[in-house]
Amino acid sequence: MNDKKTEELNPYALGIAQFDRAVVYLDGIKAGLMDYFKSPKRTISVSFPVVMDDDSVRTFHGYRVLHNSALGPGNGGIRYHPEVSADSVRALAALMTWKCALADLPFGGAKGGVACDTKELSEAEVRRITRRFVGELGDNIGPDTDIPAPDLYTNEQTMAWIFDTYDIMHPGHNNRPVVTGKPLELGGSHGRNEATGLGCAIAARQLMARGLVDGLDSFKGARVAVKGFGNVGVAAARSMEDMGARVVAVSDSQGGIRSDDGINLSAALAWKQQNGTVVGLPDTMTITNDELLAIDCDVLVPAALGQEIRSDNAHTVRARLIVEGANGPVTPDADTILQDRGVVVLPDILANVGGVIVSYYEWVQNKEIDQWDVETVHRKLDAKMVQAVDAVINRYKILTEGDGEGAHSDPSERIDLRLAAMVVAIRRMARVTLQRGIWI
Ligand code: NAD
Repeated sequence: MNDKKTEELNPYALGIAQFDRAVVYLDGIKAGLMDYFKSPKRTISVSFPVVMDDDSVRTFHGYRVLHNSALGPGNGGIRYHPEVSADSVRALAALMTWKCALADLPFGGAKGGVACDTKELSEAEVRRITRRFVGELGDNIGPDTDIPAPDLYTNEQTMAWIFDTYDIMHPGHNNRPVVTGKPLELGGSHGRNEATGLGCAIAARQLMARGLVDGLDSFKGARVAVKGFGNVGVAAARSMEDMGARVVAVSDSQGGIRSDDGINLSAALAWKQQNGTVVGLPDTMTITNDELLAIDCDVLVPAALGQEIRSDNAHTVRARLIVEGANGPVTPDADTILQDRGVVVLPDILANVGGVIVSYYEWVQNKEIDQWDVETVHRKLDAKMVQAVDAVINRYKILTEGDGEGAHSDPSERIDLRLAAMVVAIRRMARVTLQRGIWI
């Protein structure tokens, strides 16, 4: 077993390695184009002062990266977390490019963030940070250029402040499409809140139905464990339960809870809202986050941070299927260990693409000054997710067994769904880039 310290864990380096792995399976693409795909189009780094509630002044550091806009304006989350860095934002922006290409959306990839710990900040301080950050970004975001969305420790309230600040700076325009994930009253979309988690469930349902997970063809009776009971985790748990699963464990940053009979999700959510954590919910057993990853279950959904399943703990996973609700929760070394042990990983690029799909629907509704009902959004999301999963499975089959471009290009390479998804995404991007003749 490798030691965690010997594993490459820089998110940007990991993203590049994933890209390089996929490029081997693409035929006839200009080498120089691949360098272009790896390079972010624009990286903005800002530092700004904010007055705190106690009247002191603190300086915050924020980033916004537009990785690629060949397919359309950038879209991607803004996260508030102490570990936000230029490298992590660059890596996540590139991942957004591949997600949008994979889902066949007319969006490019972007991401942003501010290094801060919202748990130590008041709501008014977060609001001031948000307004000042948007002011610093200026015209580097916009309804037709780069559109922020929610991510870790940002939510529809944060998106409302982003909209309001941008709207003040650009009066007299329909500015609603400048940001997605807004409250309904401000032009948010029905179904955006649960889109990422619901998308995870739909993707897993389709993967199982197509026979990609040994011994599991649906959620009926499946035991699910969710690490990270936030936007993505709650919606994934609820959707999987709706599809017939039993949620036996959930957790947040303070620890986890377990109940083999199934956790009452509404009660867990109410308990978390009241106590700041799911820990302590009556009729459940308290567990650690490490124990949650190793729990005896069928489907494990890491839906919190990146790099949670690494070479030092991948061997403890007992699930048959891992659904990457979070971005980058399974490291490449862990991918290898899991595949060798027969654990299927539904990769982030595919599993959590539902968020940006409904962000796109929100943007379309805002452009048309319209609002669709939730059934319409869910139906469109379902169809788009199934299309993306099918495209990845078909490519996976070509790479592993069939004929066609890139099949068995390198027999020594390990083929998995992550690789197949990247190949689908890069092929689409390459096609569009060639059609546009982007280099002249
Ligand atoms: P969130 O802030 O709503 O929820 C995060 C949850 O994770 C919280 O319950 C928090 O307590 C928990 N958490 C934090 N640190 C933890 C730890 N060390 N161990 C266990 N739990 C921990 O965030 P979110 O929007 O649900 O995003 C979660 C992940 O999903 C992120 O990786 C994000 O990039 C990814 N993602 C989010 C969206 C979206 O639409 N929100 C879309 C795609 C991907």
